[in-house]
Amino acid sequence: MPEEAKLMRQIEEKARRTAKLYGYKEIITPVVESYELVAAKAGEEVRARMFTFEDLGGRKVALRPEFTASVARLVATALRNEPKPLRLFCIGSLYRYDEPQKGRFREFWQSNFELMGSEKPEADAEVLLLTNTLMKLAGLKNYAFKVGHIGVLRGILSHEGMTEETQNRVMQLMDKKQHEDAITIVKEAGASAKCLDVLQKLVSMQGSDSAKILATVENLVEDYGTASDAVKNFKEIIKLVSETPEKPKIIVDAGFARGLEYYTGMIFEVYIPELDIALAGGGRYNRLVELFGGEPTPAVGVAHGIDRIMLATQEQKTELKTENGKSVMVVPVNENLAGEALKISEMLRAENVSVETEVMRRKVAKALEDADRRGISHVIIVGERELKEGAVILRDMHKKEQTKVKIENLTETLKSP
Ligand code: AMP
Repeated sequence: MPEEAKLMRQIEEKARRTAKLYGYKEIITPVVESYELVAAKAGEEVRARMFTFEDLGGRKVALRPEFTASVARLVATALRNEPKPLRLFCIGSLYRYDEPQKGRFREFWQSNFELMGSEKPEADAEVLLLTNTLMKLAGLKNYAFKVGHIGVLRGILSHEGMTEETQNRVMQLMDKKQHEDAITIVKEAGASAKCLDVLQKLVSMQGSDSAKILATVENLVEDYGTASDAVKNFKEIIKLVSETPEKPKIIVDAGFARGLEYYTGMIFEVYIPELDIALAGGGRYNRLVELFGGEPTPAVGVAHGIDRIMLATQEQKTELKTENGKSVMVVPVNENLAGEALKISEMLRAENVSVETEVMRRKVAKALEDADRRGISHVIIVGERELKEGAVILRDMHKKEQTKVKIENLTETLKSP
């Protein structure tokens, strides 16, 4: 609907501004993708919800359920030789057969940012910070970043000899907060009592005192080589983000997992108190580009849910700042002046003023009534008498005042604040 479409485009514009502020270049990827590509690492949850079909050429295809696989393929192929770091963003619609409910749709929009080529914590910090910038540009308040690290959980499970398949099942359950079921699977796969104890403790560890929580996690996993390295990386990222002037609100969650299987490091989601669904989600994925045949390319990215950010601005009654709020309607007093009205409208548009021309040949009073109903700020009335003097009537609809203005001065008058 027009109001929603307007709001959605405003959020999209904020995402584009964010991309510009951080130096991300736009790419446009296909809506219809190879099934193999998008299914490869999407994770069971997303895979089961894809819109999949066979095209007329007998290929199995799917409506894209997310962007990252398409971007990673590009980086593995056409953009293979681009110097790193490579910063890319895309905006568009995605499709998942989710159960429709508040903030959950079968067709939804994302702005998606990927930073390719750096494994350093400042790259992870950048993705968190640009997301913070977008939330701020959208005018949101009291939002928080829930941050975890897949490397800690996978590090422990790998150390215990769990297969990747088992690990993926555990992550899916953890993502859905089914911690007991997840730990049961680990137990049945033959994990040590110590591992079960560590996992049990990790899943209940979360809060805003990140230094304290991460110190405890570090002690817990000190015997698990790669998990221990992961905690160090986790600490560095949190430190970098926390020390910026913005100081985004961070909740560290040691038992946090995300459904997509390609994550290898830091993962995060953004929430506001008014909604219990995530506004954005992302993380580090160091092996995806390689999986698609490219050079080993460490990467970190984020997807911002445009529909959900819209919903959040509505929940928080955010005033999105718009440019010059003037809207103009040009009304001829009779049909002989229709051509003059069009000419004046075109002249204003060429000067970047938004104009609606009266095309119904309604009487001036009727047109004014309509302009008022639709919140038009200024009406230009084109009449014979004024035209002879090279002028028109400019009516300020809010102040209910009108003055005669020379046509040559119209643009200037309308552009002045
Ligand atoms: P994901 O691609 O699953 O990491 O999701 C990233 C973001 O996309 C989420 O945080 C949501 O904001 C948005 N999103 C995911 N699924 C949906 C959906 N079914 N409807 C609306 N937004 C969604």
